[in-house]
Amino acid sequence: MSRTVYVNGDYLPESDAKISIFDRGFLMADGVYEVTSVLGGKLIDFDGHAVRLERSLTELDMAMPMSRDELLEIHRELVRLNEIDEGMIYLQITRGAPADRDFAFPDPEATAQTVVLFTQNKPGLADNPVAKQGIKVISIDDIRWGRRDIKTVQLLYPSMGKMMAKKAGADDAWMVEDGFVTEGTSNNAYIVKGNKIITRELSKDILHGITRAAVLRFAREAQMEVEERNFTIDEVKQADEAFITSASTFVMPVVAIDGAAIGDGVPGAKALRLREIYLEESRKAAV
Ligand code: PLP
Repeated sequence: MSRTVYVNGDYLPESDAKISIFDRGFLMADGVYEVTSVLGGKLIDFDGHAVRLERSLTELDMAMPMSRDELLEIHRELVRLNEIDEGMIYLQITRGAPADRDFAFPDPEATAQTVVLFTQNKPGLADNPVAKQGIKVISIDDIRWGRRDIKTVQLLYPSMGKMMAKKAGADDAWMVEDGFVTEGTSNNAYIVKGNKIITRELSKDILHGITRAAVLRFAREAQMEVEERNFTIDEVKQADEAFITSASTFVMPVVAIDGAAIGDGVPGAKALRLREIYLEESRKAAV
């Protein structure tokens, strides 16, 4: 079934949606994005994603093209038009399409931003059977730029990381810089040692995950200890459990790294409990 997508104010069949070849998202990766999940036809943590979007835009000297309420309305209309029960909404805002290719930013008065949203229908997203077996990761060097806290569309290296993982017979890659894990290619990374949930502290080195913020809050509420600090691949191998978080995977257990089993080599109790709590609480707060 053809999707209805949103492009610059219009709702169109996906085959009719067109973007200029001069769009700076296409030529320069000059754009930001967000992915918001949908459960039971409602948006998970919409406000968190909207706040991070505003921050990403501000950091790149771009304006928010509409109010948060208008943005929410577009998300809801796409869910309705495409009859999404479980899935995701992808949003991308670029600096628009000036008359020609140029490194200098175009005058925002003369060049309108490009705003695109589309749905990804994923029935069974919350009940993903992969969560019952966990995923395997490999470690790779983190060679991304120094502003990973901005959610830009420069996703070539994360794509390469996923391909490296696939080639190695794994599901994803954790990136390592100066001996410490930064994050997964498209998720935040955690280990569990005893009652402690350990994850890297927030900085420009990682994306400030919206799911991360919620999961750490739920972990504290469930009397788990949270330690925000750097950790090494050796520590991952010695950990009792490991997991990732993101808007589309929620909390996903990690059972092996670089071919070595983590803990018992099966999804850990804390990761599974946090997944359960996250899904339950997010559904309650969905809008
Ligand atoms: N880290 C990176 C590099 C990501 O690309 C993502 C999500 O796309 C995340 C972390 C998780 O962020 P969120 O929980 O907001 O989806």
